[in-house]
Amino acid sequence: MNRIEIDNDFCKGCHLCIAVCPQEVLEISKVRSGKGYLVPRVARVDDCTGCLQCEMTCPDLSITVIHDKGKKEADHA
Ligand code: SF4
Ligand code: SF4
Repeated sequence: MNRIEIDNDFCKGCHLCIAVCPQEVLEISKVRSGKGYLVPRVARVDDCTGCLQCEMTCPDLSITVIHDKGKKEADHA
């Protein structure tokens, strides 16, 4: 299973990562960052294909996708 890490200290709550995810893995949480932004949370990690769109879209480099070892993205194609 892939792992998704969100750095709440850098996230500005724009939610672009949520919008761009084709699998609807992410959703808005009820957690506020230190700056008061509602940060995303990983709601359906099982559905993550590791496409990296969330990571590439985040303007603040706050979300990182760690691929499951031994699995390649091609496995999900
Ligand atoms: S795209 Fe980045 S800054 Fe925007 S909500 Fe997602 S993790 Fe936070
Ligand atoms: S890597 Fe792709 S499928 Fe996984 S959370 Fe990010 S955008 Fe969604």
